[in-house]
Amino acid sequence: MRAAVIQEFRAPLSLETVPDPICEADGVVLKVLACGICRSDWHGWVGEHPKVRPGAIPGHEYCGEVVEAGPLARWKPGDRLIAPFILSCGACPECRSGQTTTCRAQRVPGFGEPGAYAELISAPHAHTLARLPGSLTPALAAGLGCRVTTAYHALTGRAALQAGEWVAVHGTGGIGLSVLLIARALGARVVVVDVVPERLAHALSLGAEAAVNARSGDVAAQIVEITGGGAQVSVEALGSEATANASLMCLAPMGRHVQVGLPTGHTAVMQINMNAVYMKQLSLFGTRGMPSWRYPALLSLIETGRLDVRPIVAREVPLSAASAELAAFDSPRPPGVAVITDFRG
Ligand SMILES: [Zn+2]
Ligand SMILES: [Zn+2]
Repeated sequence: MRAAVIQEFRAPLSLETVPDPICEADGVVLKVLACGICRSDWHGWVGEHPKVRPGAIPGHEYCGEVVEAGPLARWKPGDRLIAPFILSCGACPECRSGQTTTCRAQRVPGFGEPGAYAELISAPHAHTLARLPGSLTPALAAGLGCRVTTAYHALTGRAALQAGEWVAVHGTGGIGLSVLLIARALGARVVVVDVVPERLAHALSLGAEAAVNARSGDVAAQIVEITGGGAQVSVEALGSEATANASLMCLAPMGRHVQVGLPTGHTAVMQINMNAVYMKQLSLFGTRGMPSWRYPALLSLIETGRLDVRPIVAREVPLSAASAELAAFDSPRPPGVAVITDFRG
């Protein structure tokens, strides 16, 4: 099969013919229909991710058509499926409690095993995959990727967002945009923060009530002013120390901070304002992914028209363009994400 391989960090991906993947007993092999290009892939491509070494095939945001099913998998060839990025075992105590994103035997294609920047992918633990609704194109399904699923679980499964509450969104990349759209669908009010004027304008056009340019002074003070005392929920979607602190400081008393951004740097250790946590009696949530049993709830929001995810996918690109898309994460980008939909081009 044809695949894009990291042979050298920060160098263009190598387009190679590699052996087809082997189907695992509880897994499937998918013909990849679409694969999202994500900031997490960039972390691997620059050499910051411990599980991404030369020889790796990136790609963790994929949907595809089953070409082979293992004897323990309940799918059959021809089924069209969408995958969560965390493939959970289903058997460990965390999985049995429903908290499958903390599975102790989890597998994550693209990080330590071959990903979906390729014509085919082996997806083990296929019980975690969900059927791709006919109303969702492969590009949009892949665009849900880690961002829409993570945003949905962050707001509903972690922060327990209520209609009428204010949500502050720090960073309007794919995850931040997803948080905005889902929070609006759930009846919340949204203020967005970014440094790219074009992205702030885009967020306003999609229903944000206010936008704060982080280069224009004290972000937290501006949000406290806009929301009349602070946001009830604040989502940090960048992973930097400055934004994590702005997120804590912009909250109302008893507010909930959700850490969605993958902390940057090799150690990811940050200095955060614990006095704000103490004095305002804040709650801090970490979150990563979405348990796959929540797909029906998320997909029904989309299928009933309450959540329109089309603004999230900016463009469809061939596999040969993935290198340029990764390199573009080095600097602030225009809104929307890229999805690979042509694996021969
Ligand atoms: Zn498990
Ligand atoms: Zn991702």
